[in-house]
Amino acid sequence: MKKTLIEDIAQKLRIIPNLDREHSSSESVDLRKYPDPENWHDHIELDANEWPKRVERRYSLVPTTCFNCESACGMLAYVDKESGQVAKFEGNPHHPGSRGRNCAKGPATINQINDTERILYPMKRVGKRGEGGWERIYWDQALDEIAAKIRTSLKTEAKDRVVYHVGRPGNEGYVERVLKAWGVDGHNSHTNICSAGARTGYSLWHKHDRPSPDHSNAKVILLTSSHLETGHYFNPHAQRILEGMMDGAKLIVIDPRLSNTASMADHWLPTWPGSESALFLAWAKMILERDLYDRDFVENWVNWEDWLEADYPDEPSTFERFIELLLEEYAEYTPEFAAAECRIPVEQVIEAGEAVANAGSRLSTHVWRSAAIGNLGGWQVARTLHLLNVLTGSVGTEGGTSPNSWSKFSPELFDEPPAPDGWNELHFPLEYTLSHYEMSHILPHLVKDGRGTMDVYFTRVFNPVWTYPDGFSWIGMLEDEESVGCHVALTPTWNETAFFADYVLPMGHASERHDINSYATSAGKWVAFRQPVLREYARREGREVEFTREVNPGEVWEEDEFWNELSWRIDDGTMGIREHFMSPYREGERITVDEYYQYTFERVPGLPEAAAAEGLDALGYMRKHGAFLIEEATYSKHEQEGWPTPSGKQELYSPTMVEFGYPEHAIPHYRIRSHVHPDNLQGEDEYCLLPNFRLPQHIHSRSANAKWLVEIGHRNPIWIHPKDAAKLGVAEGDLLKIETEIGWFVDKVWVTEGIKPGVVGCSHHIGRWRRAQDQGNRFLSNEVSIEDIGDGKKRMRTVSGVGPWESDDPDTNRVWWRDGGVHQNITHAVQPDPISGAHCWLQKVRLSRPSADEKYGDVEVDTEKSFEYYKRWNQMAKQRETHPRGERRPLWMKRPLSPKKEHWFIPE
Ligand code: SF4
Repeated sequence: MKKTLIEDIAQKLRIIPNLDREHSSSESVDLRKYPDPENWHDHIELDANEWPKRVERRYSLVPTTCFNCESACGMLAYVDKESGQVAKFEGNPHHPGSRGRNCAKGPATINQINDTERILYPMKRVGKRGEGGWERIYWDQALDEIAAKIRTSLKTEAKDRVVYHVGRPGNEGYVERVLKAWGVDGHNSHTNICSAGARTGYSLWHKHDRPSPDHSNAKVILLTSSHLETGHYFNPHAQRILEGMMDGAKLIVIDPRLSNTASMADHWLPTWPGSESALFLAWAKMILERDLYDRDFVENWVNWEDWLEADYPDEPSTFERFIELLLEEYAEYTPEFAAAECRIPVEQVIEAGEAVANAGSRLSTHVWRSAAIGNLGGWQVARTLHLLNVLTGSVGTEGGTSPNSWSKFSPELFDEPPAPDGWNELHFPLEYTLSHYEMSHILPHLVKDGRGTMDVYFTRVFNPVWTYPDGFSWIGMLEDEESVGCHVALTPTWNETAFFADYVLPMGHASERHDINSYATSAGKWVAFRQPVLREYARREGREVEFTREVNPGEVWEEDEFWNELSWRIDDGTMGIREHFMSPYREGERITVDEYYQYTFERVPGLPEAAAAEGLDALGYMRKHGAFLIEEATYSKHEQEGWPTPSGKQELYSPTMVEFGYPEHAIPHYRIRSHVHPDNLQGEDEYCLLPNFRLPQHIHSRSANAKWLVEIGHRNPIWIHPKDAAKLGVAEGDLLKIETEIGWFVDKVWVTEGIKPGVVGCSHHIGRWRRAQDQGNRFLSNEVSIEDIGDGKKRMRTVSGVGPWESDDPDTNRVWWRDGGVHQNITHAVQPDPISGAHCWLQKVRLSRPSADEKYGDVEVDTEKSFEYYKRWNQMAKQRETHPRGERRPLWMKRPLSPKKEHWFIPE
């Protein structure tokens, strides 16, 4: 319909929503203000520093993608043609996910590459591991020595003693392929401190383990997260949430903390941590009672008949009876019940519930970390949240929530080595039958428990000593050469884990590496190319580069080239590894990194044709544009593909849960009360610590060298409600001692109504440290001392805070902040959920005024207590261990780097 003149004016003034905007197309972005890709190699801008003179600078704009969170937003590196160096990063408007926009962390890549303290050369430890002595070595030495250790391990036929443990993955299958070529079940990840809870909940419904909400087209946006500011995919999501809201969508945010996102919401529901499932089930009941469910979707795509057959064999197998029985099953989940569990007014439950119930097929929902990773039974949050999508028929619809895998491109690789011929029980111990990812957060505890050791352990862009709970147990494991024969840290910047390595090998930042990216950041499907920008710049200038290290700073290697070279050197010619690194184009010769990407891009649907239209090949297109839209929208794929579950349907009823010993969770329920449920706290003296939120401008543990980001935020005080502050007699800036199950830390108080009474909050990602003998990250790290005070107890004290220093960068001398925050994670006990395996981040804490000798930043941990505490939680899983048909875990569920199928069964 044509707009009227009044509508046209009102739309321009933004009084009414944009009536003719195309939501998901990258073409909907106004691209006129951006330089045309045809001119990217010769872009001219005035130099702002020379103002008011008009001095022109010439740039080559090279597309790449950001590496500072998972979203892989598009960036354009401005390579100054005079210096040949990157001058700045801006957004790439032709990237379909980010559409030219970045958060603060994207442009701050320039800080990372210019960090005066970055690691530029391979280092080998001198003295004992962890003592802090290092010598610079040549790459040849590093590669030969590490290759020899891996070769020795592989020749023992062990499949689980060479391990790659990844923090920020950032690529699609590269290292998994390498590990398969080595024949090891050696992939470990950070997922069990991140998304494993939510993944389990989603997986139970439809095997796909992540949601992809279509916020732009939604009527109601329901977030159990703070996705307007932070979290996975947040910049791509935030811009689409705002588009949806501009078009009239209502935003509902579930969070005990008034996040920036909650502050923008139409409905902020500050639920008690862990009660979210009670709320979602109350809303499910409202939908059922009011006949607002999508009968067509539920009747045809949900395995309701299986539930009736299993639990109500004497009842008629009709849809009408199913609805009645489900209502009976959910009878207890009244709004009053939800309000009592959540500790919010019942009116709020009903008002927000009505918005959800009336959203129809345009309900976009999301949970990723947040409550799903916080609580015992947190996986229920994702399962009950998705129930709302199922009932409203908003699964896979425009404006609804789709499985992420529909929008994610899986590259075809040039060579697929066979699956590993073994099973790593340090990663998937038998008792965690349903753990969706590796039990990485209890790795030191399993090792201490005598369950295995490692010959060669790679940590790659990963900092468990600092990021994980119970970091002193990680230090203990890494210091012990019997537990970890050799520790290799692959990292672009120093971190607390690299301090305990044998080799520290410098890897590239975003603009110094290759990766293929594809993420479900919108309803469409795209692929992007993270390319080393100076390599592409050299090519444009007519200089061919064989190895990326030729153009990277210092001796920083490109990571793909590192794995290729290491793999080649491991094989002494008898091991069959080299055959997986041969060129698909040149018979008998080693593959090059260009050929690797050429092969994959040639197989992206539609890309070769788009490239040919510009007179390019597929690799040339990606070098030039950096991204390609494969599908505009990926709705309703189940109508062709069905659902990849045993029933072929959405599994409201999970036979898997029944078979694996959890019949009480056959259908979504609220039958597990979180470990921080008020009933599990010691009255009013115990609080729930909410430690799993992030300051929006920080990268998990890689922003301490990004000066712009640190200047914005560098403290992590304890958020406390005024009522609780009054009860404890503390005021803004006072010190509080926060006692966890295994230790304590001292932090400063921030009194705010932005946190629920009874809950205190403390942000992740601040509180970085280094000892006197360590280096790096001085923008954000305190110098600390670590003392063994006996009986397994460790004491960390802040020796000095942040301060200025002299370097080639004048800004290091201008550092004005002094407070580097407090390391809280190290005082957290590990709490592995017995079902999902996820770490339950929320901690029960006691609060008090510190004594005179307990100072700000002090930390104490009892590592013996932490081991005993691990055993208590581990026992919960052991007590329910069940293996139908001898299966270690359900055969249909996903597993990263899946071994051969026979290893999915326990050997007789
Ligand atoms: S959201 Fe920010 S940090 Fe994440 S990829 Fe985009 S620009 Fe980078």
